[in-house]
Amino acid sequence: METSRAAAEARDAADPLAGFRARFAGTDDSAADGAPNRLLYLDGNSLGRMPRETPAALTRVVEQEWAGGLVGSWSAWIGHATRLGDALASGVLGARSGEVLVADSTSVNLYKLLVAAADARPGRDVIVACADDFPTDRYIVAGVAAARGMTVRELPADLDEGLDPAVLAAALDERVAVVVLSSVAYRSGALHDVAAVTRLVHDAGALVLWDLSHAAGAVEIDLAGAEADLAVGCTYKYLNGGPGAPAFLYVRRDLQDQLRQPIWGWFGQRDQFEMGPAYDPVPGIERFAVGTPPVLAMAAVEVGIGLIAEAGMGALAAKGRALGELIVALADEWLAPHGVALASPRDAGRRGAHVTVAHPAAWQLTQALIDRGVVPDFRTPDRVRLGPAPLYTRFVDVWDAMDRFRGVLESGEFANYPAEHARVT
Ligand SMILES: *Cc1c(COP(=O)(O)O)cnc(C)c1O
Repeated sequence: METSRAAAEARDAADPLAGFRARFAGTDDSAADGAPNRLLYLDGNSLGRMPRETPAALTRVVEQEWAGGLVGSWSAWIGHATRLGDALASGVLGARSGEVLVADSTSVNLYKLLVAAADARPGRDVIVACADDFPTDRYIVAGVAAARGMTVRELPADLDEGLDPAVLAAALDERVAVVVLSSVAYRSGALHDVAAVTRLVHDAGALVLWDLSHAAGAVEIDLAGAEADLAVGCTYKYLNGGPGAPAFLYVRRDLQDQLRQPIWGWFGQRDQFEMGPAYDPVPGIERFAVGTPPVLAMAAVEVGIGLIAEAGMGALAAKGRALGELIVALADEWLAPHGVALASPRDAGRRGAHVTVAHPAAWQLTQALIDRGVVPDFRTPDRVRLGPAPLYTRFVDVWDAMDRFRGVLESGEFANYPAEHARVT
């Protein structure tokens, strides 16, 4: 690969998604270009940038719908969770209409769907999970298993390469009720073949619950084609819905009426406003709702999903792979001589849209980079995670960030930063 800055500029000039960058706050490049500390944001996989349309969308809901329409606005708001779910289904997840709902947090949705899935496989007492999955996934699996007297088979996974499908295959038997996996590993970016793994799990008679938090908006997903059972994920990462934005859940259409979720709230009730005496879940995806949805936050989610759908997941995924390949090429050339190792799959086809590198002083390097305007994040045990969200990150941004990374290593200044971790990394 040609790794000059001029080559990166040429790729930006030819990028069909280039126009989307200006639709995000903080991207006024004409003013900032050339400034030595121009912000290079490589953490869109933790908190996506704010779309410029978002404040107006929020203001509209606040001033017209809340201040003006008051309680009468509920006639429109009541449909937002499924309307946004349908937008996600068609624009991002490759699911069918009526299979996705925007609600609650990823953690809570994982709990609801995991309990529902375990209930749907009576007589099976094992949940299979990955030892290197995101903490909330591991904790929720452990908590559900403890409450139900089930056993967790926590499969070892390589921190850099992810879970080997052969290890998963060997762990599947007639005791397994549910398998919980992240399609893109939060630390390394290792990518599962969702369709192949789903087939493997189905052959064992179990259900699979995918966490798509690091995949939605980063890679192409075809839940319908994979015949995936269940999925959850965030909207505040690549989908740019804002901090704490509500999450999504997916339940394949034919499973919906067989499944019961454990939080019996009134938003999942048939004829909700009949205020009936006993819980009787409504048919369809809305039975997986619990209580009143966060209407303000959903207005921001809608803008984020709209931009991703407009760009198209094919183009976004291709650019995500290309940005990752540039990171890998520059890391090989500039960082490896300083003891920085690639900590992600080398093959772009086996990665999501982020790339991780390892160095014993990763935490100090992260602080030094942030002081120089490069925002990655630190992940245990010794990783620097670089997440160039393809919707608004340019090839030159990656090039400049890697150039500053090289400078931090060459100067050795990172060693002056404290080794103790901050509360938020
Ligand atoms: C970010 C992330 C979450 C976050 O869950 P919240 O309930 O939104 O805090 C969960 N799972 C994975 C895999 C993630 O990457």
